Amino acid sequence: MKKIVVAFLIVGNLLAQEDKSFTKADYLRGSITPEREWWDLNYYHLDIEVEPDKKYISGKNTIRYKVLKSEQVMQIDLQPPMKIEKILSEGKEVAFKSSGNVHLVLLDEKQEVGDFNEIEVYYSGYPKEAVRAPWDGGFSWKKDGNGNDFIATSCQGLGASVWWPNKDHMYDEVDSMAISVTAPKNLMDVSNGRLRSVKDNGDTKTYHWFVNNPINNYGVNVNLADYVHFDEKYQGEKGELDLDYYVLRDNLKKAKKQFTQTSKMMEAFEHWFGPYPFYEDGFKLVEVPYLGMEHQSSVTYGNQYMNGYLGNDLSGTGWGLKFDFIIIHEAGHEWFANNITYKDIADMWVHEGFTAYSENLYLDYHFGKEAAADYVIGTRANIRNDKPIIGRYNLNKRGSGDMYYKGANILHTIRQLIEDDEKWRQILRGLNKEFYHQTVTTEQIESYISKETGIDLTEFFEQYLRTTMIPKLEYKIDGKNLKYRYTDIIKGFDMPVRVAIDKKEKWLFPTADWKTEEFSGKELIVDRNFYIDSEAL
Ligand SMILES: [Zn+2]
Repeated sequence: MKKIVVAFLIVGNLLAQEDKSFTKADYLRGSITPEREWWDLNYYHLDIEVEPDKKYISGKNTIRYKVLKSEQVMQIDLQPPMKIEKILSEGKEVAFKSSGNVHLVLLDEKQEVGDFNEIEVYYSGYPKEAVRAPWDGGFSWKKDGNGNDFIATSCQGLGASVWWPNKDHMYDEVDSMAISVTAPKNLMDVSNGRLRSVKDNGDTKTYHWFVNNPINNYGVNVNLADYVHFDEKYQGEKGELDLDYYVLRDNLKKAKKQFTQTSKMMEAFEHWFGPYPFYEDGFKLVEVPYLGMEHQSSVTYGNQYMNGYLGNDLSGTGWGLKFDFIIIHEAGHEWFANNITYKDIADMWVHEGFTAYSENLYLDYHFGKEAAADYVIGTRANIRNDKPIIGRYNLNKRGSGDMYYKGANILHTIRQLIEDDEKWRQILRGLNKEFYHQTVTTEQIESYISKETGIDLTEFFEQYLRTTMIPKLEYKIDGKNLKYRYTDIIKGFDMPVRVAIDKKEKWLFPTADWKTEEFSGKELIVDRNFYIDSEAL
């Protein structure tokens, strides 16, 4: 069961990784093309009607942008079978050329640098149905136990352009966004940000949501169900934070019990990562008919009100059953994914490595350092070292699924190198301050950590993120001498490692060359907290 579960977790990555020749379409999808580069997203108003009986959506997205360069051809993404009906610029219809997912809008008016302009993209169609949300996403059209529609979107990797027209590249986040969703009146829509108003149209209702912060495209979501709502206030680092919960009517009692973990999560993560990054938008947990996703300020939940990952412990140590995996993991992404967002999905470890690591920090806060270490070390069983963690740039291609648990163990190893937990905590908090509401590259994260730790981690990151080799410490105890070296390392890799000699702590400084030291003990044990292999020769 556990194996199956893990396979589900990473199958999306494996599919995306297969080596093949990339097409022009991959490049247009995955790179900052000239038709994207000249304008900066400022505001979206996505306004759609969802018709569950037809599995059909229609509406428009208003896109406000700032002109950075005076160009007039603009790339908008929308994936077939969704269709653009017309595009208006300043109220006048403009021409566009479509090829697959890419639509080049030919603006008539000269675009003056510094101006804020708007286009309105009208569209409709039968959006791709999710095959296995959230990994192979789209629209999930399900029913609840009472026969009501239970509908949700998910689109990480695939891209938000699977269901709405936008600039579908992660480097440019919109600064704020309105989301209006019209649906049959028995359903409630829960999207991102705060609910501003509900309009009764007779047979339908329109829910108007507003996101007051930058948001990445795949974070935007629509969830429609016969929801019931409950809430609480959390006294956090930035004051009072609204925690709102939307669950299926029949699950209210279970949710009220299980979601008590939310405030525990908030306490642990504010401690380690700093203030929740979206106080203005509140925090929501929203029940959906799939496992879950880190939709910004409306984290979606489908873990069946069980602890673990659908009741399973991904670490095999028992500690994974002390928390609800989806509440902890997906909410951890509010800091690493939604606050600090990758520019290119090749750097997805910035989301998943830190968030997988956050599971261990949650345990550290509530159950102590040893429990946390057991957990993160236990998750090494899921590491494959099949491909590098970093994916392919400019092609919308992520790297190995090892970005999760190898990523977490890389961070756990850095914590050992620093040997100062408070300093490490300040670095994690510092990352969330330095890159607050920004899109980043892995190099920015790597150099920030090197700078703040005062340890040059260039070769460390190169080894662990860009190769599949795990450093191996070889050692020989030869009478009164200890000889040791690293193998399976890149040039210049020289990470110190802590060992215990007859239970006394000692640091070794291995390199590719054999070193010899005096040895007076009986037994040498390599500290398990370092993610390396070792062999006594
Ligand atoms: Zn994740």
